[in-house]
Amino acid sequence: MSGKPFYITTPIYYVNSVPHLGTAYTTVAADALARYRRMTGHDVHFLTGLDEHGQKVAQAAEENGVSPQEWVDRIAPAFKEVWELLDITNDDFIRTTEERHELGAQAFLSKLYEQGDIYKGHYDGWYCVPCETYYAEDQLIEGECPSCGREVKFLKEDNYFFRLSAYQDFLVDLIENNPSFIEPRTRRNEVLSFVNSGLKDLSISRTTFEWGIPLPFDTDHVMYVWFDALLNYITALGYGENGEPEFSGDLGRFWPADVQFVGKDIIRFHCAIWPAMLHAAGVALPKQVFAHGFLLTKGEKMSKSKGNAQTPASLVERFGVDAYRYYFLRDVNFGQDGSVSMESMVQRYNGDLANDWGNLCSRLFNMIGKYFDGVVPPMPTQLTDTDETLRAYAAVLPEKYEDAIQSLDFSGALESVWDLVKGTNYYIENEAPWGLAKAEETRPRLEAVLYNALEAVRIAALFCFPVMPNTSSDVWTRLGLGDISAVKDIAADAQWGKLPAGNSVTTGDPLFPRIYEDE
Ligand SMILES: [Zn+2]
Repeated sequence: MSGKPFYITTPIYYVNSVPHLGTAYTTVAADALARYRRMTGHDVHFLTGLDEHGQKVAQAAEENGVSPQEWVDRIAPAFKEVWELLDITNDDFIRTTEERHELGAQAFLSKLYEQGDIYKGHYDGWYCVPCETYYAEDQLIEGECPSCGREVKFLKEDNYFFRLSAYQDFLVDLIENNPSFIEPRTRRNEVLSFVNSGLKDLSISRTTFEWGIPLPFDTDHVMYVWFDALLNYITALGYGENGEPEFSGDLGRFWPADVQFVGKDIIRFHCAIWPAMLHAAGVALPKQVFAHGFLLTKGEKMSKSKGNAQTPASLVERFGVDAYRYYFLRDVNFGQDGSVSMESMVQRYNGDLANDWGNLCSRLFNMIGKYFDGVVPPMPTQLTDTDETLRAYAAVLPEKYEDAIQSLDFSGALESVWDLVKGTNYYIENEAPWGLAKAEETRPRLEAVLYNALEAVRIAALFCFPVMPNTSSDVWTRLGLGDISAVKDIAADAQWGKLPAGNSVTTGDPLFPRIYEDE
């Protein structure tokens, strides 16, 4: 039985540098969503990849004395390595220099050209090479790029144009009538005012350099890198691979995307140009584009160009991959800018992971070892009020978690798990099993308390899995349970009482050994 298709994409990352905390942030969030949707029985397809064309790449290659293809081939493995390091479970990794993409992009463009949505014109304007974007004189800020503040060049060329202006009314209707198409709301308003300010036709070809996909109807031109890049989301699903403007293979079932994650700096491309392109070509629109915020260090965007000492690898080395994934999704509200720092990461690690979660597991597994020779006691048949309270935390978790994930509130989802984790810690403190262990007549109560606490831990681990797959697998293994990554119906697995009495429990090392600030 295969579930309902669920397609999630990250932006494809530009290959002018190795992956940094920002690209890792988007990718980890997408991975947590992909993992959770697999646990809700969906047939998930998770795409990420690389944007390998454009003048910036050609320049970087030239500076390094290699061809552009050699250059991108040299950088691409660094992305794959970081995604492996972060346990990213993408189903595909597309590179825009792959034939499947080039064929698809050309098929798409030919269709627009043949139906008159693309025409030849003349362009002049101020061009920012790092942003690969043209600006009108009045858009410049003190004569420099309004987006990145760098130097712009005056360029003149014959270009092909996409009739973006013809889709203005369509876009306004789309955004106004589909409130969840662009999330969060601040981004939606931003795109709406951009569209309402009047759309100009978009120059979609270049003749000043050669590193791009040749236009199928005029090979003196290469495709504008953004136009090329956006198409990856459908070419990865086989759009145009047979030379025709259509989805030809089995992967077409995943389109339209359920959600496309983008950074807030690229919403004009994803929320205005992209839907206009798709609509023009008669392709369905993604159900949602979600723009996350920036990671800020001391109030400044953590950007690759400004340099940043911490890399995903250095943080994983210090905190471990699960804690890395947890920190960024728990500490930053997805959709807003968030400050990140080593201090707050150490705090989250020691507080939430070492104290709340890791300690709970260690204490509990140790007590099972000590009092029950490492065997899960029977499930109690009678419940006290405190037992009921604990079970209530577990009972509301699936719905609270699902609601939070529906609005891509990863922090809220984790908070709902922590209600159970903290509730279980409180329960243990309150019931004091070490006291119950002192007398034979309180042994039935000791069994009940430890069974309940173990069951709460089993359920908490289940909901930690999308964000912290390694430690959750570990907890399940220690509880003598099967492969947590095979769970296909998380709500059913989260029902109370699924932990079999008689299972062997292994104690093991602490899940999150405490970290000291000066380490
Ligand atoms: Zn710029």
